[in-house]
Amino acid sequence: MAGKDDYVTMLYGAGGSVMHDFIRGCILRFFGGLADRGFEVPLRALDDAAVVGGIVLKSDSHVVKPIFFPGGDIGRLAVSGTVNDIAVLGAEPIALACGLILEEGLPLADLERILNSIRETCLEADVAIVTGDTKVVERGNLGGCVINMSGIGVRTEALEKNLRVVKRYRVDFGSRWILDSNLRVGDKIVLSGTIGDHGIAVLSAQEGLSFGGEIVSDVRPLNKLIQRLLGEVGGVVSMKDPTRGGLADALNEFSEKSGVGILIYEDRIPIREPVKAACEMLGLDPLEIGNEGKVVIGVVKEKAEEALDFLRGTVEGRDAEIIGEVTDRFVGVAMQTVIGGRRIIPRPLGDPIPRIC
Ligand code: MG
Repeated sequence: MAGKDDYVTMLYGAGGSVMHDFIRGCILRFFGGLADRGFEVPLRALDDAAVVGGIVLKSDSHVVKPIFFPGGDIGRLAVSGTVNDIAVLGAEPIALACGLILEEGLPLADLERILNSIRETCLEADVAIVTGDTKVVERGNLGGCVINMSGIGVRTEALEKNLRVVKRYRVDFGSRWILDSNLRVGDKIVLSGTIGDHGIAVLSAQEGLSFGGEIVSDVRPLNKLIQRLLGEVGGVVSMKDPTRGGLADALNEFSEKSGVGILIYEDRIPIREPVKAACEMLGLDPLEIGNEGKVVIGVVKEKAEEALDFLRGTVEGRDAEIIGEVTDRFVGVAMQTVIGGRRIIPRPLGDPIPRIC
């Protein structure tokens, strides 16, 4: 129970261990087990989205500051964030609910730019907005607007095909969905592209920094890519979009929920040079920086090379790499470094950059 000197801090929403402890220790205490009808993927699974009656359901609020940043804006982010959380369970997102919370004084031209961006991103993801809500609050610290985007997704033939391929190599595989808890020893970990681009792009806009090379956000919907991967290659067991807390947080989620160790190789993790340089200059760990257009994929080892080849043949996945594997030699996440040592990759306290999504 909270004491009179306990307050919410920015870390409660920063996607690391503080936020996870808050969700487990507070949110789940009040919301866990409510009217439980034996949902397929319930709240307590704390996966990217829930599954209710065969439908994937997700709600995601977006508070990025500033609302326009290099490579994107809050509208594109809101659609992509929700679509990607539905897509990583293996479902195809079909419909969204858009809740706009606007700050008094937001220029209408800015609002229209954001609405158009939402529209364009929906067209790209082939998803509809079917309901929504608009509220306005007094001038303050909102930064112009925040957006809640909720959505639903459905099973597809591609997901069924993927599961048939998984069962070819793992006969006891029982899950109907792509879940964080599905990893087993021997699986390979594939990353769809470079890390750190989104967080550093937003930080540069927040602080008015320029890092020499052009750093732009990777924000994009990945549902089309993911559906093709499932249908044309298959063998995918777990997926996550490494947003707040970055790759380090996503891999620790996998490790914890699957009860396995994950070994990754530093020299295989794709990072653009300007992002690497910015991280070094600012003392940030690129593994902990949020991404909005990448997916971490756990795949049965027999299909890993094929998944990699497929991804590299796409625009979204051209920088993909097999970055590691699942092991029983330790628990948690460890990285083989370029200088030959091995370092533990703990769950970050929280993403070092505030309000990136
Ligand atoms: Mg997610």
